[in-house]
Amino acid sequence: MGRTFFVGGNWKCNGTSEEIKKIVATLNAGQVPSQDVVEVVVSPPFVFLPLVKSELRSDFHVAAQNCWVKNGGAFTGEVSANMLVNLSIPWVILGHSERRAILGESNEFVGDKVAYALSQGLKVIACVGETLEQRESGSTMAVVAAQTKAIADRVKDWSNVVIAYEPVWAIGTGKVATPAQAQEVHAELRKWLQANVSAEVAASTRIIYGGSVSGANCKELAGQPDVDGFLVGGASLKPEFIDIIKAAE
Ligand code: PGA
Repeated sequence: MGRTFFVGGNWKCNGTSEEIKKIVATLNAGQVPSQDVVEVVVSPPFVFLPLVKSELRSDFHVAAQNCWVKNGGAFTGEVSANMLVNLSIPWVILGHSERRAILGESNEFVGDKVAYALSQGLKVIACVGETLEQRESGSTMAVVAAQTKAIADRVKDWSNVVIAYEPVWAIGTGKVATPAQAQEVHAELRKWLQANVSAEVAASTRIIYGGSVSGANCKELAGQPDVDGFLVGGASLKPEFIDIIKAAE
């Protein structure tokens, strides 16, 4: 089966070029397991992508935090998948809950974005996750299944997709999901893939956890059988990110 552990760093809308250079220097000096043990991808804001790509160690890769839903053109302020491909940016994060909530991205829109980005040759970290209200009303699985279905309806080849399960109540709150809570949803998502896509896709697709992951809690989460890595926000801007990468060992 062999799902290589995956650790993504989502830098969100943070950093000056000086700060970004410092983070990259810390990453470049970090002692981490080899690429066959852990795949590491960091995601700076668009404007810093070329800088990070040129200075980052070659065993780590970069991701954009978003891209437009189709080919470029008269879409002021957007960046197309084709432009990322043109700059040899291999990955893109799509469907992050901040974009779903603040910018009103629907399940269908995210599904369209994932399909288009894949069609242009990008690899995609596709984010799903429920709000606190949805969890408390018992609809967690229905919500993440609907978000995943909107992708599955549009995507045939899952080999370049990583699913990030990020409960909204855990993002940036310091309130991490317990290992049991994460494992439960990851296992359900894998079952959903098995029933609705295929056994092969269920077995091979990485399902990573995001939401207040830290150096202190990553080891126990990484020990869960269906947790294949992390998408890290706040802690990915700190030297602690190296410890989180090492949770792959
Ligand atoms: P956090 O963010 O680690 O700061 O909670 C995670 C994310 O939004 O991807």
